[in-house]
Amino acid sequence: MPIYEYEAVDPKKGCKRCRKRFETIQAISDPPLAACPSCGQKVRKVISWCRAAVVETPEEHLRVERQIAEYEREGMWSHAAELADKHSEKTKDRELKMRALDDYKKAGYDTDSMESYVSSNNDTG
Ligand SMILES: [Zn+2]
Repeated sequence: MPIYEYEAVDPKKGCKRCRKRFETIQAISDPPLAACPSCGQKVRKVISWCRAAVVETPEEHLRVERQIAEYEREGMWSHAAELADKHSEKTKDRELKMRALDDYKKAGYDTDSMESYVSSNNDTG
């Protein structure tokens, strides 16, 4: 579920929690918080960023996949790996993550630590 950041509309009136920014986990379908759960002071959503996976259009996904394939064809393994890695983080695509690791290996990187990272995170998909 996505994590949202909130801050008090008027930080001077807020409590310890909402005077600074605080995070709360909400379903996408939930209405945004209007008040601090601790003190009831008005809060607003901070929309600078969101940790949820970015949902991409199939076209965008295809475009990235094609770009990765092109890097691989030209033997630009580190480029391919980086792009696949970044994209797999965004889309939570495990297959793409493994492909990134493979490309990292071909580029000559030590991927042992990365592999343990992937296997320890296999409950995310
Ligand atoms: Zn508060």
